Amino acid sequence: MATVTISGVSKSFNGTAALHPLDLTVEDGSFCCMLGSSGSGKSTLLRIIAGLSDPDTGTVRIGERDVTRAPSEKRRIGFVFQNYALFPHLSVGTNVAFGLRARGIGKKEAHTRADRMLELVGLAGFGKRTPKQLSGGQQQRVALARALVTEPDVLLLDEPLSALDRKIRGEMQAELKRIHQETGLTTIMVTHDQEEAMNLGDSVLMLSHGRVQQFDTPETLYREP
Ligand code: ADP
Ligand code: ADP
Repeated sequence: MATVTISGVSKSFNGTAALHPLDLTVEDGSFCCMLGSSGSGKSTLLRIIAGLSDPDTGTVRIGERDVTRAPSEKRRIGFVFQNYALFPHLSVGTNVAFGLRARGIGKKEAHTRADRMLELVGLAGFGKRTPKQLSGGQQQRVALARALVTEPDVLLLDEPLSALDRKIRGEMQAELKRIHQETGLTTIMVTHDQEEAMNLGDSVLMLSHGRVQQFDTPETLYREP
């Protein structure tokens, strides 16, 4: 079970609240999309869940585990951040295998698992190429494969598609949906795109000035005036 439970989490920077005490439960296996204008606290919340930033108050649980003070690499999460680039000088396969190698897994097994992940994201046979030889959409697929290869419990995505052009973005949305269905991973994604949130999310969280404005199914949000 990898339900993500946020209880009373808050965060201030220089005395200004980026997040007011916030409670949120993202159910095991669900896909939660986070919407909100720039500065509403989306990245701050995602970074706290990822373990890249500590909350001032409150707790973060993944399943039964309290991970509030656990370092990022102990949380069993995968993340794709907008600015979390691939290593340009390493092959695609080595990029994907990187997290496994860092965990002490042997080269052969790491690359076998990396190849399997590249297959999952529709890039079978691309392992020997370098990131530069790939399109933006393909690079994001590699980033996704890299996030998934360590078999995380939770997948965190910070605007993974916003740099892509419209057509590719549509394709990648379908791809994310398929991968979510295949893996059953609890997924939390930040997006600026309301249509994308409605299309992908089983739940949509709207943040405004560091508070939860709405948290509901897309169907319910659509019905509201
Ligand atoms: P969003 O992701 O919704 O655009 P952020 O979480 O990045 O919002 O930011 C929320 C608020 O916290 C903003 O006012 C931002 O300037 C501030 N903030 C975020 N990170 C820092 C930081 N490291 N230092 C100072 N202020 C920060
Ligand atoms: P994005 O816009 O892609 O969501 P941000 O620009 O909010 O990302 O954050 C990028 C980095 O800058 C993060 O480490 C965040 O904590 C930091 N940051 C964001 N806003 C501020 C700020 N006002 N002052 C200092 N650091 C900030």
